[in-house]
Amino acid sequence: MAGIPKYAAGVPRHELVKILCRGGSCPKGQSTYARLALREGGPIPGDSGRYAGYVAHCLRCGYRATDTYNWQGP
Ligand SMILES: [Zn+2]
Repeated sequence: MAGIPKYAAGVPRHELVKILCRGGSCPKGQSTYARLALREGGPIPGDSGRYAGYVAHCLRCGYRATDTYNWQGP
């Protein structure tokens, strides 16, 4: 798992995603690892691609991200 930071190391790799966190306590504009979870209620309109129907919880600050188009696999 080269390149996976300590705060994300305990999360199964298939649940990891890199996001640009908009939470208050993460550095702005830096990508951060988050944990994927199925979105309650299913995909939102316009949601498409690999992460459609998911939300991601920032592993550093807990921010809940829904902007799936910005996400990247580890
Ligand atoms: Zn964050």
